[in-house]
Amino acid sequence: MTKTFDIAVFEGDGIGPEITVPTVALLAKIADQTPDYALSFTSHPAGAAHYAKTGDSLPEASLQAAKTADAILLSAMGLPDVRYDDGTEISPQIDLRKAFKLFAGVRPVRVAEGGETPLKMPAGKTIDFVLIRESTEGLFHTQGRGEVTKDEARETLLITREVSELLFAFTFNLAKDRKAQGRGPGRVTCVDKANVFRAFAFFRELFDAEAAKHPDLTSDHAYVDATALWMVQKPWDFDVLVTENMFGDILSDLGAGLMGGLGLAPSADIGLHQAVFQPCHGSAPDIAGQGKANPFAMILSAAMMLDWLGLKHGIGAMCDDAARLRDAVDAQVLARQDVTADLGGSANTAQAAQAIGARLEC
Ligand code: NAD
Repeated sequence: MTKTFDIAVFEGDGIGPEITVPTVALLAKIADQTPDYALSFTSHPAGAAHYAKTGDSLPEASLQAAKTADAILLSAMGLPDVRYDDGTEISPQIDLRKAFKLFAGVRPVRVAEGGETPLKMPAGKTIDFVLIRESTEGLFHTQGRGEVTKDEARETLLITREVSELLFAFTFNLAKDRKAQGRGPGRVTCVDKANVFRAFAFFRELFDAEAAKHPDLTSDHAYVDATALWMVQKPWDFDVLVTENMFGDILSDLGAGLMGGLGLAPSADIGLHQAVFQPCHGSAPDIAGQGKANPFAMILSAAMMLDWLGLKHGIGAMCDDAARLRDAVDAQVLARQDVTADLGGSANTAQAAQAIGARLEC
């Protein structure tokens, strides 16, 4: 019997609904083409606009629906002018990360051969690596609770055995899947600062223990400062990188820069039971409502969702459709046809998404 996956959709704020509607339409058409799986979408309120209207940024019913869904597809949330009383912004995407313990922040960095990047790319080279950012502890452990006195400020970096073991097991499995799909050599690099901090020596020790369980993969270590240099000098040499929360926060923006901007940067936040797929960018209030938003980061995030569900449930057709979506976006970006203004084109959001559908003949 065909399995139907329940996808909880959060359209979010600003450009969120503009990029979500065509992405969901595209996913529905792709799923309609195959007997191997089906998708059912339910939309749930959350975000800054919802908070402004109701005083609730993430209703309990939305949280519960996200909890029981097979996957969560989220656009972007937050508006700079809508804030809680303490001055901080509404960010249900971070609340979901904490509520569901989504420890693995997966940030793919891809530039196809001939694709645009600020780097000079040697002929025949492509950039295709994945940065995995631990997303629940590290230097974000005391987020919002740091101690500040007149003369001192303190935050605490936390690395736990429990989360690190989950993180490294996830990372090596991802490298294995990429190798099986012919997308990488199966090499995992631990990015740390183990030469200076005991916490990172501990992180590295736990990494090495997981590495020893995977003789079919190779592993190495790199200090975070050198990694920043190599991401600019030779990013085509990386396969899978895994690192602490703050290091990953910084390196993932460097990765988005390599891809030519936020409009092409997808992401996933994955835990043991739930996973959220969303573009790296925010709600872009400066262009909201104008049809200028690039839908590709959202479409690439949807492709990551298909891949994740396909691998988890052993449905090859979902992984194949994820690859078709990625290839269609690559081809369209390379051709510079039917792309939005941020990529130098004149298409609007709907036209750019429809052109992907046309490439997939759906
Ligand atoms: P942003 O990512 O929304 O925008 C930065 C710049 O990139 C803007 O000039 C915007 O027009 C452009 N941009 C972003 N996405 C684009 C797209 N798809 N197509 C074309 N151009 C695009 O970052 P910001 O302005 O710092 O934040 C705006 C709001 O989004 C804030 O309230 C912030 O808190 C929130 N935010 C949410 C998330 C999230 O939901 N994960 C992430 C970052 C920021």
